[in-house]
Amino acid sequence: MKKFKVNSLLILFTSILFLSACNQDPKWKGQEPIVRVSTLTKPIQYQLKKTFDLGNGIYCSNDFDGARLNGVVLTNDTLVSALITPENTPINGSPWYAFKIWSNSEKNIYLKLTYLEGVSHRYYPKLSRDGLSWNNLDSINYLPDTTSIMEGGAPSNITMKLSVSTDTLWVAAQELITSKHMQDWTDDLATISYITKSTIGESRDGRPIPVLKIGVADDKKMIIVLSRQHPPEVTGYLAMKAFVEAIATDNELARRFRDEYNTYIIPMVNPDGVDNGHWRHNTGGIDLNRDWEDFNQKETTLVKAFLTNKLESSKGEFYFGVDFHSTFHDIFYTIDPELKGNMPGLVPDMIQAMTEDIPNFDPNIKPGGLDGPKISSTSFLFYELGAESVTFEIGDDTPRDLIKKKGEIAAIKLMELMLK
Ligand SMILES: [Zn+2]
Repeated sequence: MKKFKVNSLLILFTSILFLSACNQDPKWKGQEPIVRVSTLTKPIQYQLKKTFDLGNGIYCSNDFDGARLNGVVLTNDTLVSALITPENTPINGSPWYAFKIWSNSEKNIYLKLTYLEGVSHRYYPKLSRDGLSWNNLDSINYLPDTTSIMEGGAPSNITMKLSVSTDTLWVAAQELITSKHMQDWTDDLATISYITKSTIGESRDGRPIPVLKIGVADDKKMIIVLSRQHPPEVTGYLAMKAFVEAIATDNELARRFRDEYNTYIIPMVNPDGVDNGHWRHNTGGIDLNRDWEDFNQKETTLVKAFLTNKLESSKGEFYFGVDFHSTFHDIFYTIDPELKGNMPGLVPDMIQAMTEDIPNFDPNIKPGGLDGPKISSTSFLFYELGAESVTFEIGDDTPRDLIKKKGEIAAIKLMELMLK
């Protein structure tokens, strides 16, 4: 009898625990807080760029911008094994891959993606026939190695079933958007009368880093948009594009905004990392988004110089700053709302207003700690410039039409609030 009571109590307690767990906020908690690291230049490993003749009439290539394929071999008649490694270590687990594959006759093959020891697979494969339009690999052809699940729940390797032929197949972690694509997009925008394009300087490896200016105001009131410090973060870049295009569009709201505010956009802070197919770093081997206090890297130093020169020459202010990134799920990393910049409340109000026009949108907002290290771009924009700032993170797998909508609606709500 006594034993029965103990068991009943145990069941009761377990049920209470289970129910309270169910009641917890199910939202993703975001990445671990960032920690201060040295941002002094370190060596990186460049890829050997070539066409790999695998035998059996099968070929692979990494000889294009944005590619990453560090080794590849034909393991048996139909199994191709690829090795994907980062530019250097330690590094965040964002294993980017991109390569082309073809064969001299039509055949079905298996392609296995393996990574550096201790790294798990992250990006669902995308396929393209022309390098411009991309589709997810059909799920029936996606074979994750369920015997190799690592901490975090992802496998250490995956295999995809592909049909290859003389028509080149592009395989990549996300849509391929290199510095060339960014240059084409910004050139197109700059044909509009109220948009100008210039550069803030050149990256370590000599690639121009463009800046767009949208607006016909004097520089008394400005906003700043950044993206692509981290090369694989294509979904954040897509949101940035939609955000910028909403400010560039020809309607009443955007016209009024451009009359009062100038918007500066640096769409690709790390073009060397992007074109070299890096997982995370610039060619100085550093995570640029940890260098906004020490400014040891050329790219961050150029952005800082551009912004501070702008302030000095105009005697104006930056009222808002956004840096677009990608992570596992959509999230906003904000500045603690206790702290007031040049337009207090702007970021929380913008996010709240977005919920009016995006169905079922329940934003995940994570305010930054007050005493954490101030080493990221949005810390710099807030603490040094007074701009109300936000790190706008898009999930790796967020549907592309929703990404576009979020970018566009964020810009519309921001313009409405800033004109009030
Ligand atoms: Zn990032």
